[in-house]
Amino acid sequence: MKIAIVRERADGETRVAATPETVQKLAGLGGSVVIEAGAGATARFPDADYAKAGASVVASAAEAVSGADIVLAVRRPTADALKGVAPGALVIATLDPYGNERDIDALAKAGVTAIAMEFMPRITRAQVMDVLSSQANLAGYQAVIDAASAFERAFPMMMTAAGTVRPAKVFVMGAGVAGLQAIATAKRLGAVVSATDVRAAAGEQVESLGAKFIMTDALKDASGAGGYARELTDAEKAAQAELTATHIAKQDIVITTALIPGRPAPKLVSKAMVESMAPGSVIVDLAAERGGNVELTQPGQSVTTPNGVTIVGYTNVAGRLATSASQLYARNLLAFLDTLIDKKEKKLAINWDDELVKATVLTRDGAIVHPNIKLPA
Ligand code: NAD
Repeated sequence: MKIAIVRERADGETRVAATPETVQKLAGLGGSVVIEAGAGATARFPDADYAKAGASVVASAAEAVSGADIVLAVRRPTADALKGVAPGALVIATLDPYGNERDIDALAKAGVTAIAMEFMPRITRAQVMDVLSSQANLAGYQAVIDAASAFERAFPMMMTAAGTVRPAKVFVMGAGVAGLQAIATAKRLGAVVSATDVRAAAGEQVESLGAKFIMTDALKDASGAGGYARELTDAEKAAQAELTATHIAKQDIVITTALIPGRPAPKLVSKAMVESMAPGSVIVDLAAERGGNVELTQPGQSVTTPNGVTIVGYTNVAGRLATSASQLYARNLLAFLDTLIDKKEKKLAINWDDELVKATVLTRDGAIVHPNIKLPA
């Protein structure tokens, strides 16, 4: 059972799909692991450490994937890059299929079974395989670190002989996985933290972290399917905007993390709201990759407005912590692979009826098989 790990080719992708730790465990499951030279370099895992863990290090992606039964990656590899894989090989990565259906079709035509890790159901058994959570958790932490480094003042209250420094006021919009970690991190740094969400259940979680929960009375609860948020009605949006406008003007730092599955990120912070903030304030928009929660966000960049507000819109924020993000992502993959392998026989034994497999397999036997992925007409 040959398992291939390729170097990521997407611009700015720093992560890697396996670490020396997981390579050793994959070998334990019966895999002979082959890794493309330099695959772990940007995440600070040298080739020599992979070799010590039992992998063969090869010079090219083509050599790595040739004859492979399983290919592991962070981002969707191109069908071209997979030339020479064994027929029916598994390609496991975050495949980002929406809007990229033709690339998924090309994977189908290449004869691979493409598995999208981000489609993993959010059930207890699959928590250990949940790449959205593992990466969002780190992004939430990094958002606060980025905010603190752009903020030209201290976060905690400091009582010094020269007088008192007041604590920074941090407002977190969206209290899912990333938002809750941002709240916890900002609290640890000593900020006064408030947060909002449209799901009423988030209130208790926010308060248990010692932050203040803010929600408009006009909005009882906008929980949608599967614990996610639904889109707000126009009246609800207006009520939320009114509350946000009064609260934001008094904040030093705003961190936005709001997402709605399958929709562009909701716009929560208007240009006028940014203009109401004091010079030196910082906004970190974690939704930048999906269009941003802030009207003035420029995805991939940090910009400062004429009134002196810095808006940080970095994409792939988990990738800014390449080592930690790779460690968690690689463990997510390992945990999933563990369910696909017969440990006695040391070979693939996939139960195609398993709900984890059904939810994540996008292509099989030359065709797209996932009900949500349709080729555009
Ligand atoms: P997400 O990334 O889809 O969205 C981030 C947050 O933004 C969510 O809390 C959402 O409610 C909020 N949001 C959406 N629109 C908003 C708006 N207009 N204003 C303010 N906030 C808005 O969510 P997520 O982080 O993936 O988590 C979603 C839920 O799934 C949470 O309840 C989380 O605890 C749960 N979850 C469960 C599991 C599991 O059971 N295995 C794993 C991960 C997450």
